[in-house]
Amino acid sequence: MVTAASDREDAVSYVSLYRKYRPQTFAEVIGQDHVTTTLAAAVVEGRPHHAYLFTGPRGTGKTSTARILAKSLNCEAGPTATPDNTCPQCVAVTNGSSVDVLEIDAASHGGVDDVRELRERVTFAPIAARTKVYIVDECHMLSTAGWNAFLKTVEEPPGHVVFIFATTEPHKVPPTILSRTQRFDFRRLPADVLAGQCNQLGQLEGLEFEAGAVDLIVRAGDGSSRDTLSVLDQVTAFTGAHVTLAGVAEVLGSVPDELLVETADAIADGDVPRLCLLVGRLADAGIDLRQYAKDAVEHLRSLFLLQVAPDSALVETTPERLARLSAQAGRLGRVELLRAIELLAEAQAAMRRGNTRLPLEIALVKAALPEAAGDPAALAARLDRLELRIGLESAVSPSTPASTPTATPTPAPDPTDTPAPRISEAPPPSRPPAPVGRPAAQVTAIPADSPSPPVAVDLGLVQASWTAVLDALKVRKRTLAAQLTEGSAVALDGGVLTVSFRAGYGFHAGEVVREEFAPLFAEVFTTLFGVPLRLRSVVHEPADSAAGNSTEERRYVEQAADVAEAEAAEQAGDVPDAEVAHDQAVETLQRTLGATVLEEVRPTS
Ligand SMILES: [Zn+2]
Repeated sequence: MVTAASDREDAVSYVSLYRKYRPQTFAEVIGQDHVTTTLAAAVVEGRPHHAYLFTGPRGTGKTSTARILAKSLNCEAGPTATPDNTCPQCVAVTNGSSVDVLEIDAASHGGVDDVRELRERVTFAPIAARTKVYIVDECHMLSTAGWNAFLKTVEEPPGHVVFIFATTEPHKVPPTILSRTQRFDFRRLPADVLAGQCNQLGQLEGLEFEAGAVDLIVRAGDGSSRDTLSVLDQVTAFTGAHVTLAGVAEVLGSVPDELLVETADAIADGDVPRLCLLVGRLADAGIDLRQYAKDAVEHLRSLFLLQVAPDSALVETTPERLARLSAQAGRLGRVELLRAIELLAEAQAAMRRGNTRLPLEIALVKAALPEAAGDPAALAARLDRLELRIGLESAVSPSTPASTPTATPTPAPDPTDTPAPRISEAPPPSRPPAPVGRPAAQVTAIPADSPSPPVAVDLGLVQASWTAVLDALKVRKRTLAAQLTEGSAVALDGGVLTVSFRAGYGFHAGEVVREEFAPLFAEVFTTLFGVPLRLRSVVHEPADSAAGNSTEERRYVEQAADVAEAEAAEQAGDVPDAEVAHDQAVETLQRTLGATVLEEVRPTS
């Protein structure tokens, strides 16, 4: 069956924005310049192809462009790249009443009979227009018989006919047809283009958008112009001309960006009370917690993508939102992000089965408190968090001791009682040592951008963070880090950390406790744990030293070579910069879990 073009539109009583603002000229088709300029040129030069294949995601302008091409070819003022849209030919195409521009919807009909009928009709010259145009929508739905019937016509087209096949699934189009068509790939529309379209139509329609409302609409439109405008329709039907963020969120059931940003911030800060309050607020506001969990996963995923590939444009969004996401991405470590995503994804499954609030809260608390969980992923997330702080520290002052004034001096305290201005953008400045022995629950509630890291230090944490300690030390003094590598933390008492070295490492044991290095260790431990631990070293003599001798010797030689190499590098000024140190830290992070397990099974005396 051949139907008039507009019959396929959704039957709605009002004129939808999509229909009202459907592009009527090549210039009005947004985001597909690579297609429209080529087509316009072909019309102007009087050399249109006889068969086109338009591919691309739904709602990106394929059918609109096909109709504009039909008008360009048949406009009484043409053929022209700028059809007037007023002559009877143009109007007939716009209305879907043209007898010479025909649309076949392969999705709603099998197509065989249509194509037979078409094949018979195609031999007749156009009735009123210059060119007959057949627009075959969803052409991938045509049956094999349908395509075969078509092939004959496409192979030997009568001069007065142009075919336009449109599809979202070009791989289903038979190669014999593909090879006889000129193909144009319509692109998914970038978020900023769609946002521009929303704002432009908003002006024409007298709409006012609250900040962030367009972001949400575009997010729901998912790269499709048609879907974006239909979302805008739904939203304005509810909110009226003043499009509020809350209104959009309610219609779409989506979660405002600021709540997702707040979620990620609270996870980064280990701020459990804030997360629980947030869930309470969501529930009170009637926001679907399942939708929230879904959006939070998407948000964290965006942060992760921005971390691993900041310049790859993997995150599709408006430039404003991208800037906000990028600013937040550096606050969480990769492992920490992945763990949070996993926890929330698991929670989503549990939330589908029944209670929504409890699994969500548990997942958020776990994500915020890697200290509270003993699984390897939590440990890795915990180290990730430490490593992130080392990165920040070394980026600020790669080699200056903690007592040096920082690059961002804080203003002198105001004599009056007004609160000090909050410096949120600056990386954490060097800081005074935090008091020892604070309760963990209290400590974890401190935001990460506040001077003290929220870490409660005990022997277990120092052991688990040993690689992070070595990495932090490496940035400051390589040789010292190399010497400490063979030691292992065995006791922590009264701010004194005991490091045990095996037999044959007496030299190393002596070096690491030299008085001149004490400030360096104090700085590293303060950075990592908020406490300036002091170092004590012991050399452990194994009971069966005879049996272990050759191994020990070999290790000693290896170790000495490492130290010599590190010393040479240090003298050559080859001190790793922050980026290299970061990469090293990430690499050693991979090894840390294994190393930790070994240390646990090794006898400690
Ligand atoms: Zn015209």
